[in-house]
Amino acid sequence: MAKKIQAIRGMNDLLPDSSPRWQYLEEKVRTLLNRYGYSEIRMPIVEQTALFKRSIGEVTDIVEKEMYTFEDRNGDSLTLRPEGTAGCVRAGEEHGLLFNQQQRLWYQGPMFRHERPQKGRYRQFHQIGVETFGITGPDIDAELILLSARLWRELGILDHLTLELNTLGSSEARAAYRSALTDYLKAYQAELDEDSQRRLSTNPLRILDSKDARTQEILQNAPAFEEHLDEESRQHFAGLCQLLDAAGIHYTLNPRLVRGLDYYGKTVFEWTTQALGSQGTVCAGGRYDALVEQLGGKSTPAVGFAMGVERLVLLLETLNAFPAKLEQRLDAYLTAFGEGAASHALLLAERLRSEQPELRIQTHCGGGNFKKQIKKADQSGAQVAILLGEDEMSRGVASIKFLREEKEQVEVAISELALTLKEHLQRL
Ligand code: ATP
Ligand code: MG
Repeated sequence: MAKKIQAIRGMNDLLPDSSPRWQYLEEKVRTLLNRYGYSEIRMPIVEQTALFKRSIGEVTDIVEKEMYTFEDRNGDSLTLRPEGTAGCVRAGEEHGLLFNQQQRLWYQGPMFRHERPQKGRYRQFHQIGVETFGITGPDIDAELILLSARLWRELGILDHLTLELNTLGSSEARAAYRSALTDYLKAYQAELDEDSQRRLSTNPLRILDSKDARTQEILQNAPAFEEHLDEESRQHFAGLCQLLDAAGIHYTLNPRLVRGLDYYGKTVFEWTTQALGSQGTVCAGGRYDALVEQLGGKSTPAVGFAMGVERLVLLLETLNAFPAKLEQRLDAYLTAFGEGAASHALLLAERLRSEQPELRIQTHCGGGNFKKQIKKADQSGAQVAILLGEDEMSRGVASIKFLREEKEQVEVAISELALTLKEHLQRL
């Protein structure tokens, strides 16, 4: 036998058993975003490598070591998107959606990062992203947070999530803080964890969210960003906190929250949970007012977030928050026997679907005797089997056999069958 080819490590198949849970979540999100007046945008999965280098930042983990980058047959450097914001800005700019306009957009789909696969961390994973453009004030930051909070409430998981909030200030404030922090940390260089030592010269703010105990200890006495925060960002942040207070949204201020992408400034936030171990961030985002200009457009304020679908599904599973009956059961399984059976069965099923579109009907394919077909009907999980024998066909009737209840089989005229099925299934 030929050797089997397997999926790529860290890239998962979504099997029929699990897809109803994904569909449930996706449907909830889609409906909610629609209620808030957001429109869907779909971008390609592959973009020019330069797009991500310029937006996410050359010295971030994503660009330094996580991207799937390759040369295509023309010799162009392309990258499987590691996140959606860059592509969304690229598309918005390319199609004139951003300049002098307000946009509320969302997208969903696979993202790719070459990380070490573990629970809640994969190489192909899925995000649902929300991005807004053209709105400067903290009202839109608050709307995004209210929207996500409503989603958690409607999914029944709000009590298990914490909102962490921080402001990264203006780029000048960050630059001033970066040098103050670097000066302080240099004295402890040798004691920092390996990643942090490297980041000291490339991306020192990222050291703030190091998980290393000694590094965190050293950071205790580090200068605080607060001292460098510019007045405009301070007011923006105070405005956001006021709006959240007024809406009754609880949050924790976390001055160590810096996020792994270079384009953020002012507001950053994360929704985290204790229920998933170390992969506890299910949703993260912030303001990126400089990005559109950085990518060649006119200066456009922007704020957005992305949620990790795998982590949300895991969380809903862990908390038993999925509705009990998600997989849609078949209503009827149509069996047929004798001369011309296959053709009669297919045509009858088509007729039933036309007459009662909401019925879920499967037609037996592949022939076989009565016993075999009834066994299949039973295995299918359908509520009833429809039996169509030569005698029934000639008299223009079919029989309904009840597979899940103690009830006598009934014979029904074909013309009445769809309605009878519907009425019977409604009573269940
Ligand atoms: P983390 O700190 O967990 O690495 P991140 O800061 O890299 O996350 P973002 O780039 O902000 O994550 O992506 C937003 C969300 O997408 C994350 O909060 C998480 O839920 C999800 N996510 C990110 N990377 C992965 C991954 N490799 N596998 C599964 N989900 C992921
Ligand atoms: Mg990451």
